[in-house]
Amino acid sequence: MEFRDLKSQYRTLKTEIDNAISQTLVSGTFILGNTVTSLEEKLAEYVGVKHCISCANATDALTMSLMAFGVGERDAVFVPGFTYIATASSVAILKATPVFVDIDPTTFNMCPSALEAAIQGVINEGKVVPKVIIPVDLYGLPADYPAIETIAEKYNLKVLEDGAQGFGGKIGSKRACSFGDVAVTSFFPAKPLGCYGDGGAVFTNNDNIRDYLKMLRVNGASPTDKYNNRIVGLNSRLDAIQAAILHVKLSAFESYEVESVNRIATWYTERLHHIVQVPEIRQGWYSSYAQYSIRFGDSDKRDYVRNALSKNNIPSMIYYPIPLNKQHAFSYLNQYSGCPVSEYTSERILSIPMHPYLTLKDVEDVCNCICAAVQHSSVC
Ligand SMILES: *Cc1c(COP(=O)(O)O)cnc(C)c1O
Repeated sequence: MEFRDLKSQYRTLKTEIDNAISQTLVSGTFILGNTVTSLEEKLAEYVGVKHCISCANATDALTMSLMAFGVGERDAVFVPGFTYIATASSVAILKATPVFVDIDPTTFNMCPSALEAAIQGVINEGKVVPKVIIPVDLYGLPADYPAIETIAEKYNLKVLEDGAQGFGGKIGSKRACSFGDVAVTSFFPAKPLGCYGDGGAVFTNNDNIRDYLKMLRVNGASPTDKYNNRIVGLNSRLDAIQAAILHVKLSAFESYEVESVNRIATWYTERLHHIVQVPEIRQGWYSSYAQYSIRFGDSDKRDYVRNALSKNNIPSMIYYPIPLNKQHAFSYLNQYSGCPVSEYTSERILSIPMHPYLTLKDVEDVCNCICAAVQHSSVC
């Protein structure tokens, strides 16, 4: 069994993907160009925003968005304590200060009341100035944007949605990557919508930010005069081959893949909810299930079950074993003790196989193994 089965997906879409790649080779355009532009238009339409600006990966997408907000040395940027490192390293690389905010114990996303307390703490301390909030759509579930956007307005902060795992999720009819002032996503192969290499995108309704990012991703070149460089930028562009692959994969994503992972999630939940904490999707929220993550009562039980799965050749992953406030890379910030729920969760969380091509038999095998291991771990 595969954790995220990219091979089955390729077998299903092979003819179309192979054609898309060879058409790109024939076209002779390999970086940006028409295939990339038409993909950006399709992505913006799917998400429901005016502009999509593709780039090399989501880490760059976050960094460039923060640059567009003018984030720098004196600024505080609020990020969840429980996420992939890139959410915060994009802040630190610009010499701004990431401030780690604890998560909600049931959704695993940024906790709005912890956010407000963190903002007030930074204001009272007076060393750095609150500027941006980066909520993360962890495991495919959009963060609590209604509550977070209210706080952002109150303190006059920008909101940057880290939708690297969130593409395809929704709150009501509003899709992930349409929240806040700017949003980003990742096309890393294992993300909900992945290509066959690195890729990312920024989404916004703001025309000025769109224009700025289009210069920033090509070393600050003027749109009409390539060697007239107006700002200091990055080289961060999407390849035409990746865009051609994404055209095919976006169709599959829209027509059945997101529904499929949601059906599989209900199978898992039915069979597991009585023995472990299963994902809780609030009324009105819809997840794209980048991961299906379960939480155990203690870390010994989690590790015992993980070992049992591994013995049965069932892959599982711990996203994430170290909360950001405990990462060595951020030790200079001295924020060790601020995120108890993130720490508690990192010791007890386990992500099990999740992708659109899992069968009911696969799900039953995983659940039988987990149930047997949980029972065994309680008696021994
Ligand atoms: C994967 C991921 C990123 C970084 O994406 P890349 O495209 O690999 O740079 C950022 N934030 C979160 C939450 C992620 O899961």
